[in-house]
Amino acid sequence: MEPVIYRADRSAGWIEVICGSMFSGKTEELIRRLRRAQIARQRIEIFKPTVDARYSDEEVVSHDENALSSIAVDSAEQIILMVGSADVVGIDEAQFFGLELLTSAQELARQGKRVIVAGLDQDYLGRPFEPIPQMMAIAEHVTKLHAICVVCGAPANHSQRLTASDERVVVGATDVYEPRCRNCFDPGLGRKISEGRTASNPEPEAGVQPPPKKIAPTIK
Ligand code: ZN
Repeated sequence: MEPVIYRADRSAGWIEVICGSMFSGKTEELIRRLRRAQIARQRIEIFKPTVDARYSDEEVVSHDENALSSIAVDSAEQIILMVGSADVVGIDEAQFFGLELLTSAQELARQGKRVIVAGLDQDYLGRPFEPIPQMMAIAEHVTKLHAICVVCGAPANHSQRLTASDERVVVGATDVYEPRCRNCFDPGLGRKISEGRTASNPEPEAGVQPPPKKIAPTIK
C-alpha cells in the first residue's frame, strides 16, 4: 500500500522503503510509484547497482518485464553525483549498495527529494540484510511485501536459495531462488542439494512432518 503523502512544506523530502523477499513485487511497486509521479509531471530518476545485470544495463526491469529507464551505478555516492534535478529518486536492488546508501538517501531527502528505496530485507539465511533494516528505521514510510510460498501457498517472507553457495549475493531469479514462508523456509537447503538432498528427498528429521508435496503453484 502506498503511503498517504502529506506535504505541508514543499521543500521537504522523505524516504520510502519497499522491502520483502524475492518475487514479492518490490520492483513492480517501485515502477508503479514512479509512473504515477511521471504522470504528475515530476522528474524521476532511477538508479540500480551495476552488480545486478540480470536483464538490461539501462532499464529497471521486474520479473514481469515492466520496464523504466535507469542509471547503473557502482556506488551509492554516485547517486548523489548523478541525480541532477530529479524530484523523485527510485533506487532498486538497494541491498547491493551497502550501508553507504543510508548517507546518500538522507542527503537526497535533505535536498527535498522523494526517495523510494526497494530491496531485499533478508539474505538467503534469513538474516537482516543491510542496509534495508537500517533504512526502514530512518524512513518515513515502509511497505513490506510478500510473495507466495511455492510449497504451501502461505504468504512468503523468505527467499529460499536452491543452489549451494555461501556467497551472500547470488544474482538470479527462478533458477536460484524461490519464495517460502517461515514454516517451509530451509536456510540449509542449498547445502543439502549439493549433498544429494532435495525437497523430494529431504533430510530425515525426527518428529517433523514434511510439507505437502502436491501443492506447488508456480510463481511468475
Ligand atoms: Zn510455506
